[in-house]
Amino acid sequence: MGKPTGFMEFQRELPGDRSPLERVHDWREFHEHLPVQKLEAQAGRCMDCGVPFCHTGTLIGGMASGCPINNLIPEWNDLVYRGLWKEALHRLHKTNNFPDFTGRVCPAPCEGSCVLGITDPPVTIKNIECAIVDKGFEEGWIVANPPAKRSGKKVAVVGSGPAGLSCADQLNHAGHRVTVYERADRIGGLLMYGIPNMKLDKSVVQRRVDLLAREGVNFVTNTAVGADLSGSALREKFDAIVLCCGATKPRDLDIEGRTLEGIHFAVDFLHTNTRNLLDNDFVCRTPVSAKDKHVIVIGGGDTGTDCVGTSMRHQCKSVTQFEIMPQPPETRQPDNPWPEWPKVYRLDYGQEEAAARFGADPRAYLIMTEKFDGDENGHVKALHTVNIEWAKDGDGRFFPKKIPGSEKTWPADLVLLAMGFLGPDDELPDELALERDARSNVKAEEGRYATNIDGVFAAGDMRRGQSLVVWAIHEGRGAARECDRYLMGETALP
Ligand SMILES: Cc1cc2nc3c(=O)[nH]c(=O)nc-3n(C[C@H](O)[C@H](O)[C@H](O)COP(=O)(O)OP(=O)(O)OC[C@H]3O[C@@H](n4cnc5c(N)ncnc54)[C@H](O)[C@@H]3O)c2cc1C
Ligand code: SF4
Repeated sequence: MGKPTGFMEFQRELPGDRSPLERVHDWREFHEHLPVQKLEAQAGRCMDCGVPFCHTGTLIGGMASGCPINNLIPEWNDLVYRGLWKEALHRLHKTNNFPDFTGRVCPAPCEGSCVLGITDPPVTIKNIECAIVDKGFEEGWIVANPPAKRSGKKVAVVGSGPAGLSCADQLNHAGHRVTVYERADRIGGLLMYGIPNMKLDKSVVQRRVDLLAREGVNFVTNTAVGADLSGSALREKFDAIVLCCGATKPRDLDIEGRTLEGIHFAVDFLHTNTRNLLDNDFVCRTPVSAKDKHVIVIGGGDTGTDCVGTSMRHQCKSVTQFEIMPQPPETRQPDNPWPEWPKVYRLDYGQEEAAARFGADPRAYLIMTEKFDGDENGHVKALHTVNIEWAKDGDGRFFPKKIPGSEKTWPADLVLLAMGFLGPDDELPDELALERDARSNVKAEEGRYATNIDGVFAAGDMRRGQSLVVWAIHEGRGAARECDRYLMGETALP
């Protein structure tokens, strides 16, 4: 432990974000860094508590408690406090291929289970993680490190999100020749085309892709396996395949007026926007713009928040975000104790920006959309909602009960559906005759990642269902380990 009394001497401090009203005029990242001295003091708040719940990564009530990739947090906090940044980077890379991604976008379940958090604000773990890896790049410590020896085995990884990239990185370092197939025109999955640039700068993603390429990973874009290239052809060409295709089927809202123009899936809206920015040197020319429109985002999660932030940058006339669940409490409730993930009210960046511009958090809770109205050109112009409460049916299951008299009509020129995902696309799993689980994800045992087809593995959102970047990295690393064991009969991969 760097400083035994650090947690009593230093208060939790995070760098301020750029001001909401300023940052909505560009697409640059909104987080800033603390100066080195302050970061070292923040790392000194770590108590090295002996039982570091922060790196357990267990599931409690379906939510992660502690870091899912078991980052060695107290160890790198100690190193940072002592100014040993390069050593801290080395320790961080032992468990995490891409701290530059998680340090920016992870919701940080580690902080929810930090022991200091029982009595005080937790250690700023995520911020320190980001600072370590950013310093690593600035100082030139992170360079291509190709494997010294090749195994003679070839592996295809399908899908280039965080699961596919971490899997490819691990397998490449184990000496296998890895080819990553991606149907989009750029590598990165939702890191590239889901999470917007202001949260995760695309040059940060590309920097890692370039590094992997220099280390020997082969990338093939614009190729949908199962359509442009059959899965069986891939099986013939490679010794093993790891499928990391994500959970790409968005949940729809099958109500009156759904086919009107101006109603889009959130992921399509975000993908088009980022692709357009990257193709046009960050001059926004997206065909689906929120400019001067009344925007309604249906869905209160991360994807919905990104739609709010993107609409703000398009200069929308208004933005409202619907959430079917109640507003969370300000503080932990007795049924949600430490070290569980704290289910508390948070004002994320998009809502903060909307509140700064329009005067209030844009979220409306316990609300359900009943139908869309269109104009004479077949374009959406309004939507109708009713408020609900969660009641129990005869079997004890919760259902949304409409509250009579709470009906409301909202002006809407652009509606974005951000209600989650229903598993992977069917084409490739069907072609390979892969078994599915009850939620239509590809079936492969947790920790083993092997599907019912010999030599075919599955990882990430495609196996786990819609999740987080940190879980995708966990799964990609695990699938690489099992694939290596399959190829070589044993494995040294973690
Ligand atoms: C808008 C949005 C914002 C999010 N924000 C956050 C956040 O802030 N923090 C966080 O932790 N998580 C966030 N998530 C969740 C996170 O992005 C995902 O859990 C994670 O990316 C899953 O990784 P993956 O590698 O399994 O799949 P993906 O990232 O979905 O990548 C799958 C890739 O496979 C490709 N593919 C699919 N089928 C084929 C095929 N047949 N042939 C070739 N390629 C194929 C797809 O094009 C895609 O590029 C967000 C998700 C969304 C949608
Ligand atoms: S990856 Fe996420 S959970 Fe793990 S240490 Fe970083 S911020 Fe915390």
